[in-house]
Amino acid sequence: MIDGHRIVVIGGGPAGMMAAGRAAEKGCEVILLEKMHRLGSKLAITGKGRCNLTNMGGIDSFIEHYGKNGNFLRNCFARFFNQDLIDFFETRGVRTVLERGQRVFPRSGNAEDIVECLAAFLRKNEVEIRMEFTVDAILTDVNRINGVRGSGVDISCDAVIIATGGRSYPMTGSTGDGYRFAMDLGHRVRKPEPALVPIEVEEDFIRKMQGLSLKNVEVSAYARGRRFTTLFGEMLFTHFGVSGPIILTMSRQIVQEIQKHKVTLSINFKPALTDEQLERRLLREFDHHGKMKCRSVMKHLLPVTTIDIFLTRAGIPADRHVSEINREERQRILHYLRDFRLTVKGPRPISEAIITDGGVALDEIDPYTMQSRLVSGLFFCGEVIDVAGDTGGYNLQAAFSTGHLAGESACSMCRASSTRK
Ligand SMILES: Cc1cc2nc3c(=O)[nH]c(=O)nc-3n(C[C@H](O)[C@H](O)[C@H](O)COP(=O)(O)OP(=O)(O)OC[C@H]3O[C@@H](n4cnc5c(N)ncnc54)[C@H](O)[C@@H]3O)c2cc1C
Repeated sequence: MIDGHRIVVIGGGPAGMMAAGRAAEKGCEVILLEKMHRLGSKLAITGKGRCNLTNMGGIDSFIEHYGKNGNFLRNCFARFFNQDLIDFFETRGVRTVLERGQRVFPRSGNAEDIVECLAAFLRKNEVEIRMEFTVDAILTDVNRINGVRGSGVDISCDAVIIATGGRSYPMTGSTGDGYRFAMDLGHRVRKPEPALVPIEVEEDFIRKMQGLSLKNVEVSAYARGRRFTTLFGEMLFTHFGVSGPIILTMSRQIVQEIQKHKVTLSINFKPALTDEQLERRLLREFDHHGKMKCRSVMKHLLPVTTIDIFLTRAGIPADRHVSEINREERQRILHYLRDFRLTVKGPRPISEAIITDGGVALDEIDPYTMQSRLVSGLFFCGEVIDVAGDTGGYNLQAAFSTGHLAGESACSMCRASSTRK
């Protein structure tokens, strides 16, 4: 047994680094154990390498971005929120910039600056860092933490902070180990599911649309004939289905729904126009280009790669002259411009998801400290808990805020127990 250390943090992602640094800053001895050869492997690839670290939305709208579990974070955010996070980085030399959608990035556009800043925070507060150390088990004695086991050694401690992340992008080290640790200690874990994940569709023609990006479209998802979500924005076609910002955002609801019912997606190519405006627009194009073939005229309304697929679906020969299109066929074109359906096969695997939905049950964690309600000295932070946010900086803010609170509380607990001894 290596003795004398008080707090062990498992995982060197954003939550773990913040927790370890904060606990050490408050005066505790801290060891950070990370299974990879470097800190922040996932953090370094966030925001396409630019790291969307938070969002400047107000607290109420912020919390809505985590769905029904968002309220759990309210206390945590009251203690350390978006402006605190920006100040944290700015005072340590990382300038930030506000972009479209209230999203905040490092001004350098380089996620590595965020990783390096957190590593410097750990060094400054003398956190002992052990890389390539995989924790296998957490050791307890009558529902009280007394150490961790891994890489051939036992390390004794008074508190353990689990910051092992979710199960997405496992090559970054997040392989779901924390769920097992929590369950071994008696915690319930809501089944980890992929979220912010691309969606596979059944239609084969999708392969021909691969690479196509559509801006300003509206996508709705339907189950049992009922629309359960609609979003406006940008989407992308891939070789297996659909992705892009609005698809990723609605994927969590799709994943929930597809377990019970068949789900279809409906694309509205022209959401800015009313039915009358769209019909007038189509008539105008047909009048102007009466001698041209349908395929050529539709270029004024749709991206080229979609036209043949679109017209086949509408049952209209692409080579037909528009002057030969009758009213009923025009109505079919209008219908498909409004409601172009795709059948959902399912989400891509969790390894390709941006985050994991599910995790350690929130009713077994104290939201004022992040401490387990079952095991004294056990704390949780980051994606391992049952909180999953939308894209836009919400997941990193949750990781940093829960990490900050877990580090601070673990240190307070250790100090209180050493005073009592
Ligand atoms: C491609 C991509 C882009 C993203 N972009 C953004 C973005 O721009 N903005 C945003 O808000 N969110 C983004 N996210 C989500 C965000 O990265 C995560 O929510 C966040 O990293 C979670 O932080 P964490 O510290 O809880 O876990 P992680 O970052 O997953 O870190 C967990 C760490 O624990 C270590 N570990 C695991 N098990 C063990 C063990 N047994 N022993 C020792 N160490 C262990 C892992 O190696 C890992 O380093 C993105 C995610 C991906 C995949």
